[in-house]
Amino acid sequence: MKDEIRICKNISENENGELMFAGVNTLELAEKYGTPLYVMDENRIREMCSSFRDAIAREFGEKGRILYASKACSFKRIYEIIASEKLHIDVVSTGEIHTAVRAGFPMQNAYFHSNNKTDNDIKFAIDNKVGHFVVDNVEELESLNRIAGEFGMKQKIILRVTPGIDPHTFEAVATGKVDSKFGSAIETGQAEEITAHALKMENLIFEGFHCHVGSELFEAGVFIDTAKIMLEFVADMYHKLGCFPELLDLGGGFGVRYIASQPTLDVDKTIGEIGGFIKNYCVQLGIEMPSIGFEPGRAIVADSGLTLYTVGTLKTIPGYKTYVSVDGGMTDNIRYALYGAEYTLAVAGKLNEDPDMVCSVVGKCCESGDIIQENIKLPSSTSRGDILACFTTGAYHYSMASNYNRIPRPAIVMIADKKDYPAVRRETLDDLTNLDI
Ligand SMILES: *Cc1c(COP(=O)(O)O)cnc(C)c1O
Repeated sequence: MKDEIRICKNISENENGELMFAGVNTLELAEKYGTPLYVMDENRIREMCSSFRDAIAREFGEKGRILYASKACSFKRIYEIIASEKLHIDVVSTGEIHTAVRAGFPMQNAYFHSNNKTDNDIKFAIDNKVGHFVVDNVEELESLNRIAGEFGMKQKIILRVTPGIDPHTFEAVATGKVDSKFGSAIETGQAEEITAHALKMENLIFEGFHCHVGSELFEAGVFIDTAKIMLEFVADMYHKLGCFPELLDLGGGFGVRYIASQPTLDVDKTIGEIGGFIKNYCVQLGIEMPSIGFEPGRAIVADSGLTLYTVGTLKTIPGYKTYVSVDGGMTDNIRYALYGAEYTLAVAGKLNEDPDMVCSVVGKCCESGDIIQENIKLPSSTSRGDILACFTTGAYHYSMASNYNRIPRPAIVMIADKKDYPAVRRETLDDLTNLDI
């Protein structure tokens, strides 16, 4: 097996050149469960949970908090694993809340995001005892205050603030800009306004601030720049309004290795550097350190996942390109179509063959953008019936899957201690028509 394939330690090869994932033969999984198939490595998920948990505990002690951003991958078994690892969660919809509740997740440890919570969303979340709301805007603040009053309860909240980090300076940053659709901007004064407003709401308990600036960050730099702006804002609000946050949540966005040329995130080092900065800067600003939260989504689940496909039609257009078609596509992996995401792929039974054929891997949907990856190399013997693996598909794949072209969503099988067990069954054709009246 080429080094380019071994992008995570749960990927290996047996003596027959067959792909092993989390210690299980992927060809046997494809045979047993059919394709396309999502495979997830439970041990790896737990390992990532504990590496964040340990790093954050080491750095911040009792004042560290870690939330899994469950939009990255949301189904019942994931919430059970996250609960048993003692992580908190982010949820962004009634569907995610419902799934977590059904999994028996302790909802006092859930934080409800979303830039547009309807009254029904708010009622549903209160009904299900969601611990914190991450309030995005003044309109939501007032609706939540009113509805909490109707329920005769006091709702804990943190406020989403946009630190206004310049995306030209920090390339990967997309959601922390002043003109983001999320949160209230510090720069325009709206963050201060919403804070002052929140403190007056009789049915809301102000507990802190939240921000989230980007994704695929492999180093501490952007988090440190963000923390600096947020801590200055915290100090400013303390002096102006006399409030002090119990929690400062710095969001997620930790990077994951999709292809061999990318680094592997060093969780300890990154959290350590961020923590070092925060402690110093709090002293400099003359403020106590609030509890510090992080919300990794992708980094918890991405490399625990793998998708298995069966190769179908091969088509060479002489002088142009070769297409390898698989039995899935943009319905189970929309990320290349959405933003040109990069992936590592391998023919699961042919790891001992040279990948000497340049080709594009495409799906079966009626859409020319239905591409998994372009210009990659697979063995020239690749043919109909081969099993093709696409790595690092644990985050934003199942959670973004669709039924375009009336294609049923794949099953999810988990592997724990080298044993496979089903976690989500494959959708059937009847599942598709069951909603039709
Ligand atoms: C998406 C999101 C996250 C997680 O981002 P990752 O890149 O998956 O770590 C965390 N917090 C908020 C508010 C988000 O929207």
